[in-house]
Parts: sequence; C-alpha cells; structure tokens
Amino acid sequence: MTTLNLQGIGMTSQRTRDRLIQRLRERGIEDDAVLKVMRATPRHIFLDEALAHRAYEDSSLPIGFQQTLSQPYIVARMTELLLASGPKSRVLEVGTGSGYQTAILAQLVERVFSVERIRPLQEKARERLRHLRLHNVHLRHADGGMGWPQRGPFDAILSAAAPEVVPQDLLDQLDIGGRLVIPIGKQNGQQFLVVYDKTENGVVEQQIEPVTFVPLLGGVVA
Ligand code: SAH
Repeated sequence: MTTLNLQGIGMTSQRTRDRLIQRLRERGIEDDAVLKVMRATPRHIFLDEALAHRAYEDSSLPIGFQQTLSQPYIVARMTELLLASGPKSRVLEVGTGSGYQTAILAQLVERVFSVERIRPLQEKARERLRHLRLHNVHLRHADGGMGWPQRGPFDAILSAAAPEVVPQDLLDQLDIGGRLVIPIGKQNGQQFLVVYDKTENGVVEQQIEPVTFVPLLGGVVA
C-alpha cells in the first residue's frame, strides 16, 4: 500500500457513502454519533484496491486469510450497543482484521486495545490506522480469546469473531458496569449477537439478533 486516497472518487465518493448511511438508518441504526463517524471514515482504504469500489455496499467483503471486513450494518449495530451503556474510556477489540471497526471505535472512545491473531492483517491495519492519524489505538498480535490481561480491566469489549461459548477470560476482564458485545455460536450453525453486562450481582445476558461471523480461533499466525 503506497498511497491511500482518503477522499474517494466515483464508487467511493461522499455521495456513495451517504447512501450507505441512509441505508443504515433505514435498517434501524439510531445513534447519530456512530452514523457521523461512519459517514466520515473511508471504508475503501480497508480493502484491496480490486474491491474498493464495493466498499460502500452494506455487505461483508474478503480481506484475505479467509477473513472478512465486517458488514457496515453489523459494525454500526455493535458499536451502538457498546456505547448504549454510557461513554467508554478503555475498550478491548478481539479481531482487528482490516482495522475498520477499530477505526470507528477509536473515534468514539478514549482508547482502543485491539488484538489480532494473523500478523499480516495486523500490519496492514496498523498502516491504515496510522494513515488516519488514530493514535489512541494499541495493537497486539496474540490470541484474543484470552483478552489482554495486562491492559485490562476494560469498560467494554467487542469481539469480531464468534466463539461457541462466551470466553470466561473476556468476562473476567470487564469492569463492573462494563459491557461485552460478541457473536456466539457454531460456524455454519446459528449464531447470535449477544450483549453481556457485568453488574454488582453478576453477568446479565441479552440476545440481540442472528448474525454470521468467522470463528474465534486459538493460537496465532505469524
Ligand atoms: N472487524 C474486523 C473483522 C475481521 S474478521 C473487520 O471489519 O475487518 C475477524 C477477525 O478476527 C479476523 O481477522 C480473525 O483473524 C480474527 N480472530 C479470530 N480469532 C481470533 C483470536 N482468537 N484472537 C484474535 N483475533 C482473532
């Protein structure tokens, strides 16, 4: 990646982006702060050039290594859910991937700690985030299923990959009053987006809607 065209032309122009924001509203996204940040953030720089023209479609797109850039609706929904329980200062993201969700979060919370198990994806994401001057992001190459204990506890955690059951380590690294937003379920089976709120009296679970995510895998890829 040498030059990144942040402005965008044709299929990546502001007009195309505005149509996406309109669609997100129609699908029920209501948080204006989230929509504003998504309107201003160039999604096309998080894709290979050959796919950039599809960046403002409301669909997930391949980023290599059998991984995907999450669908804009899902990014918006998860971010909205994460922020709904109040302003956040320390947020853990599991599965940096392209870095797009990371970039959205970084503009809405104080600090983002993001973990990715595939090194080349992490390196590309780092370059893009630097280009966007998002310096409140801390990236780590590791298995995020275990969270990031040295940097926790967090007041919110978002996972972009689906485990079959909720990882206890992630719940453990949440502050009281903190919220975990995560897809749960089998690959090729039924997955649900679930919100876990950690309260004085324990963890409260809320099932949100059916979703399709790549699996949360163990170990790292160099
Ligand atoms: N929000 C990202 C989603 C990428 S897909 C985007 O929009 O680009 C999910 C990512 O989670 C993949 O990059 C995958 O490698 C990563 N992942 C899966 N299991 C993981 C784990 N245990 N630890 C860290 N990252 C993981």
